[in-house]
Amino acid sequence: MTVAQQKPFTATVLGLPRVGPRRELKRAIEAYWAGKIDAGRLHAVARDLRQAQFADMRAAGLDSIPVGTFSYYDHMLDTAELLGALPPRVAGITDPLDRYFAAARGTDTVEPLEMTKWFDTNYHYLVPEIGPETAFSLHPEKLLAEVEEALELGVPARPVVIGPLTFLKLAKATGGPALARLIELLPLYRELLRRLAVAGAEWVQIDEPVLVTDLTAAEIDLLQVTYEELAEATERPAILVATYFGQPDAALAALARTGIEGVALDFTSGVDVAAVAAVPALTGKLVVAGVVDGRNVWRTDLDRAVATLGSLLGSAGHVAVSSSCSLLHVPYTLAGETRLDERLRSWLAFGAEKVTEIRLLATGLREGAEAIDAELTAVREALASRKSDPRLNDPGVRARLAALGPDAARRAPAEQRRELQRDRLRLPALPTTTIGSYPQTSAIRLARAALRKGEIDQAEYVRRMRAEIAEVITLQEELGLDVLVHGEPERNDMVQYFAEHLEGFAATEHGWVQSYGTRCVRPPILFGDVARREPMTVDWIGYAQSLTDKPVKGMLTGPVTILAWSFVRDDQPLSESARQVALAIRDETVDLESAGIRIIQVDEPALRELLPLRAAEQPGYLEWSVLSFRLATSGVSDATQIHTHLCYSEFGEVIEAIAGLDADVTSIEAARSRMEVLDDLNASGFDLGVGPGVYDIHSPRVPSVEEITTSLRAALKAIPAERLWVNPDCGLKTRGRTEVEASLRNMVAAAAAVR
Ligand code: GLN
Ligand code: ZN
Repeated sequence: MTVAQQKPFTATVLGLPRVGPRRELKRAIEAYWAGKIDAGRLHAVARDLRQAQFADMRAAGLDSIPVGTFSYYDHMLDTAELLGALPPRVAGITDPLDRYFAAARGTDTVEPLEMTKWFDTNYHYLVPEIGPETAFSLHPEKLLAEVEEALELGVPARPVVIGPLTFLKLAKATGGPALARLIELLPLYRELLRRLAVAGAEWVQIDEPVLVTDLTAAEIDLLQVTYEELAEATERPAILVATYFGQPDAALAALARTGIEGVALDFTSGVDVAAVAAVPALTGKLVVAGVVDGRNVWRTDLDRAVATLGSLLGSAGHVAVSSSCSLLHVPYTLAGETRLDERLRSWLAFGAEKVTEIRLLATGLREGAEAIDAELTAVREALASRKSDPRLNDPGVRARLAALGPDAARRAPAEQRRELQRDRLRLPALPTTTIGSYPQTSAIRLARAALRKGEIDQAEYVRRMRAEIAEVITLQEELGLDVLVHGEPERNDMVQYFAEHLEGFAATEHGWVQSYGTRCVRPPILFGDVARREPMTVDWIGYAQSLTDKPVKGMLTGPVTILAWSFVRDDQPLSESARQVALAIRDETVDLESAGIRIIQVDEPALRELLPLRAAEQPGYLEWSVLSFRLATSGVSDATQIHTHLCYSEFGEVIEAIAGLDADVTSIEAARSRMEVLDDLNASGFDLGVGPGVYDIHSPRVPSVEEITTSLRAALKAIPAERLWVNPDCGLKTRGRTEVEASLRNMVAAAAAVR
């Protein structure tokens, strides 16, 4: 088979979700970890899921189906395995599956790879480590097996791999720049292409999402050389290079100059037809047009998509219709959702519905828009009903926001606040506290499940949660912590909790999306104007405060994080939605204060995550995100102490914004970066209270008093004692009771020793 024989396709998606429509894969993997099923059973579950999915995709009318986006944990980890780049510390583990999971989640003796956010999504990938000891080698067995499995079933399989530039740029390199290793990878990719061609693949999709980030001219040259070289191979499938999450700009022209056969572009986030038309070299290629948003849940405006596709026809050799990115980021289907109201439901499209849209658009492209007239009309009606729905326009909320002057987001100078708070709180030096959540015990989970199934009523549920709160308060008093928390037992997921209590959000029943590994989340859908019906947390936190004389820290989630972990409105700027959420949180802080709460923490762990991929767009984002936090936290008196909490390391690009938040105290993940973040904070002019996490809660290990003391002494080199707080580096909800108790006991002892 030679490259020239390949036929362009017309309808596809860039990748498929893998946890299973009912999280079957998650359950099977966890059962495997627990030793309840063996590898054979796990592989069988996986195979059944893939095959059912292939059948669904074919039945829905896709004529090219991505294969290889399936994963037991993460596709970057799969790529590391494919390229022989698993870290040497797992090499001794002989069972391939156990070796893979060891790299993903560690063992008693082996540290896992680091995990970080996949571009600006809430999906986390494992960061490959590349060092002098990495000797790349090709291990295509998993991918080839999946391709063969699909082809045998008659599936028009298009293998998908992460491209060499993206793989290297996202890896953590030691002993020299990652991209210097490109030369070693190219022969492997060429060999892989050959093997895929031999297996019978007509197309291969090579994902290069880094092309939508800022690249240097040298990197763009490397890109061109890479794809020229890969295209030169004669025995290979046709190459589709996929970009998503933004606009590839200059990288697109460089790519188009090479001999590859196609590019996939994300028309839902920045790429417009003019940008494509400006690249004459695309006239001979297949453009896979991502006109259906792969990472949000709104029904596609088919008229607009038809127009985009139509104008592409003149600029591309062929046009195929696609999702803008992998469907990994959206729930499987609307079909099982029974609790969404009919109107809202008619505005939505999850994975399965998106595939239908893609097929329709491909039909429209082939046969003319008349062929899909009925569907176009139906979508028009749904979109009109969305536009005119009163829930999208709450005049009360809009008027309140319009009336807020600049003072609404400003508090008295920090020094003045510090004095008022000192007198009111009378805390010891180096006050000890925690980040908010305590272990979500099985009693808590059982109570929640019982409430959902109607086995207990709300009153009984409240009674059980209060019992949990009382226990956590007793524990903290016994441990001798200075600032207590209620432990968040009522929040199974903090964003979901607030969304359930706010007007404008809807929850799904089965809308699970993989966050990392077997961890799935059910992001709420923000569809309308946000309003707070009644206090959301005051009863719980007020109850906790009634049990103790020590200050109980009220616990809220900030506007940016609520938005980052939800599906958001696409009919108004995110900054506007953020102001609405901020107003609701602000009302809550005021109510907490009235209920006698003297310290309120507003968590913004996702501040870094929403940072735009392009440097040029970052200042604008930081401005509105910081303002929304300040709007949320400036309604209370100056004697009320505002805390915030940030985590997920790599604060570099947002470090200046942290000072801008103007929180009296910021707790920040620092244990893993060995307090380096403190020097960065100082350099940015930050001079407020700070609680660098003194131990890493992500590991079940109990830190010793000496270790924490060392951490604290290191922190004291950067931060004067008057401003230093002592706390773990994140919430404790995923940990066990006994280890939490032991760790906190050591933390309190370390603080006492250092005092
Ligand atoms: N207050 C939250 C908790 O302790 C913060 C969660 C987070 O940082 N992701 O769980
Ligand atoms: Zn955290």
